[in-house]
Order: sequence, then structure tokens, then C-alpha cells
Amino acid sequence: MPTRPYLFYGLTNSLCSQCLTKVEAKIIFQDSGVYLAKHCPTHGREEVLIADDIDYYRQTQAFIKPGDLPLKFNTPIKYGCPYDCGLCPDHEQHSCLTLIELTDRCNLTCPICYADSGVDELGGRAQRRRHRTLAEIEQMLDVIVANEGEPQVVQLSGGEPTIHPDFFAVMELVKARPIKHLMINTNGLKIAQDREFCERLNEYKPGIEIYLQFDSFEADTLLELRGADLRAIRQQALARLNELNLSTTLVVTVKKGLNDHEIGKIIDFALQQRCVRGVTFQPIQAAGRLEGFEPKQNRYTLTEVRRAILEQTHHFNPQDILPVPCHPDSLAMAYALKVQGKVVPLTGLFDTPTFVDMVPNSVLYEQHPELKQQIFDLFSTSHSPSSAATSLKQLLCCLPLVPVPTGFTYENIFRIMIVQFMDAYNFDVRSVKRSCIHIVHPDGRIIPFDTYNLFYREGSAGQAMVTALQQSSNMPGITY
Ligand code: SF4
Ligand code: SF4
Repeated sequence: MPTRPYLFYGLTNSLCSQCLTKVEAKIIFQDSGVYLAKHCPTHGREEVLIADDIDYYRQTQAFIKPGDLPLKFNTPIKYGCPYDCGLCPDHEQHSCLTLIELTDRCNLTCPICYADSGVDELGGRAQRRRHRTLAEIEQMLDVIVANEGEPQVVQLSGGEPTIHPDFFAVMELVKARPIKHLMINTNGLKIAQDREFCERLNEYKPGIEIYLQFDSFEADTLLELRGADLRAIRQQALARLNELNLSTTLVVTVKKGLNDHEIGKIIDFALQQRCVRGVTFQPIQAAGRLEGFEPKQNRYTLTEVRRAILEQTHHFNPQDILPVPCHPDSLAMAYALKVQGKVVPLTGLFDTPTFVDMVPNSVLYEQHPELKQQIFDLFSTSHSPSSAATSLKQLLCCLPLVPVPTGFTYENIFRIMIVQFMDAYNFDVRSVKRSCIHIVHPDGRIIPFDTYNLFYREGSAGQAMVTALQQSSNMPGITY
């Protein structure tokens, strides 16, 4: 009797990558990969690699914990996920990080922009290329606060947020609200070119972080991803941020076959920068403007990034790069202490149940004073030869190599994040309900980043589908 050439692991709903119709998908293990096997009545069968490491994929399931709810939901359940965003009451996770787009405009026109922003007035979309008014921004901030109470992380984004003419008025609006941590998602041009702007920004420390686009050291790669050779701009921006010691995360958009070989080099470079607290790797999400992207060659999965980090650097072991419990399918993280250029990974010191138990549903653990204290205690108690814990003994082996200063601060933390947003290829309804990185819509909805760029952004591929669905039915919604 013949046997299937794969293991049928589970069932979910996905999307047809051609027409975005919701389709059933089998999760199958074949050879060493995890695939979504889908069938669209119109476009036929499709198999999509979602992970190249079956053991890690299985491991993610052990990191699932009950989600934290937002204080309120914003839309009813009517048409089914993902057509009710949001957040509808069927969503399983609050907003760990909420983006607020200050503007549609940008001082670059990257060939791969999920927001389809740019310098030029492209096609018929000119009318939407505008800065949001302060009143709109205030309203959107209030929506975030109403949902979260004290939002953990808000990210000013765009377009390019730093070119908003009232940027510092927006900073004041943020400051007047109980937002714990603010990120500024920027391509770095303004930071590199405008000293006065940086010095003014620096006055908002602590509690702000620059989320700096940093994809490559190579001119050709930057031209392909960003349409410009930004090497000098990146260096100037970092020189300024180092000078001000303004907390920075380097954000690397990864395209398989283009810049995936630079992952280790970027981490090593980041460790040498005084201002850099971590690196975030984001495989390209197939959404928005996406020139020169071949899904078969250029799609990159979270596990492939993780593998590249392990192969291209000597700082981390597999047990150090772990799924993040709020959304383990899409987020992985390694926490380390950076002490005089040396890296001591911390995440791998905990066994899985302890780790899942200990960490909050959050993307920034250092926001949680108790956890921070625990990590710092762990590190300092590791001086003690009487410590019995195996993990501490392992740490002790490293300690003679690491001269440890007495006071640790936020500056000693180094964080690697892998953030894989879903698109029409790897879309998994089971997983998107746990998404915790959201975008606030000007109309008061809060929408997962993944579905926003597919269905809810103006001009997105699926916007017409959602609008038609919503107009075709007057069914009452469910709220609870
Ligand atoms: S993704 Fe979340 S908010 Fe959107 S429809 Fe699904 S459950 Fe609701
Ligand atoms: S990806 Fe960022 S920097 Fe590039 S055009 Fe879009 S908003 Fe601007």
C-alpha cells in the first residue's frame, strides 16, 4: 500500500496567492521543510515553504500561552477572519507594538515599499500622498491609548515620519500620553543630514528609540532595495546617533539571494556601535510596491534567518534564539548582554517552561522591570561559585573572559529579533489571530500589520475584496 510522501501535521486557512480568496491549507512536513498545501478552485494547487526547520516549527507550539487582551475591541465579528479587522473580539493578542503612520510621503522611493510611499506622485494615487493632520494623529494616538491603557510600544512610521512638518508637535502629543516606549521608524536621511533635528530629538530621551533602516553594506543591494546607494547616509546617521548615544535598533529587510549573506556581518557591526541596542531582521512581506521580487527565489522564512544567524556569527547557539510567546510563529528573539564588545546570550539560560512562564506577552522584555531585574540578578549571581544551576555554571565558564562592570543598564542589552510578517503566500489564519504588531487606521480601527498591507491599506491588493464583501451583506455583527 503506498504511503503519503509527507506528514500531515495540521489544518488551517490561508489565501490563494493569486486572487487572495480564503482557502483551506494543510500544514505538511516534507523532507526537511514545513509547507502550506493549498487548493484554490480557480488557480489550483499551491505549496509554500513556511519553515525549513521542522524541529523549530514544532518547538514554537510549546511557546504558546494565553494571550493578553486589549481593553476594548473596535469592530464586530461579521464575515470571518481576516475580513473583520479590527481588532475584532476574535483576536487573540493585544497590541505589543502599534504603528502610527504620520504621512504617506517619503524622501526615498524604495522599489520594495509595503506602504507604496515615495517622492513621486505615482499614478492616480496622488491624492492620498499627504501628511496626516495633527488632529488625525491625536485621534489615532487616543485610539491606541483607549485600547491599551498604557501602550508598551508605539512606533511613528509612514512614509518617512521625520519629514512630517509638525514632527515635534507629534512628539509632544506622544509625550502627553502614557506611552511607555516610542520608536521612530526611519530611513535615516534626516538624521544623517540635519544635526539640529537630531539634537532636538535627543531631548526626548529616555524612552525613545530609533528604528533605523540598515539593509546592507553593498551599493548594488541598496540600489535594488532602496533605489539609492545609502552607504554614506547610514554611516553619517550612525555617527550622529553614536555621538548622542540615542538608542537605536538596526532594521534589516532581507531578500533571499540578495543580502542574506550579510546577516552575520551586520550583527558584528551592530555590536561595535555604542548606540545600537539590537538588530531586527524582517524577510520581505510580499505586499505593496514590490519590484524585482520573485517569490520562488526571494521568499525567505523566519527559520532561514535563524539558521543564517547561527551559521554566520559565533555569538548564539540554537537554544538562544527562541520563539516569542505572544506570537511564536512569526517572532523569534535572542536577548544578550553586551559588555565591552563581548556578547553573553541570556535567553538560552532558561528552560522552555520557565521562559514561557517568565516572559510577558511583549516584544520588548526590558520594558518589564521585574524581568529586567531577574536577568540582571542572574548575571550578577553568576559570579558566585556556589551557584548550583547548570545554566549558571555554563555562564561561569564564560565569565573570566568578560570583565563585568558593576552597573548594568539598558545600554548593556542587545536584542536580536526576527519578525516575519505574513503575506498571501504564508498566510495562516490560526497564526494571524495572534499577531501583536498592529497599525492604527485613521478611522479608529487597529489592524494587524499582516492584514493591513493585504486588505486594508488604501490601494492594497485585497481592499476591493473586503469592501465588496462588506457592501454585499448587512448581517449583524457579534460583539462581546
Ligand atoms: S486578524 Fe484578528 S482582528 Fe482581523 S479578523 Fe482576524 S481575528 Fe479579527
Ligand atoms: S520603504 Fe520606507 S524609506 Fe522606502 S519609500 Fe517606503 S516609507 Fe520610504
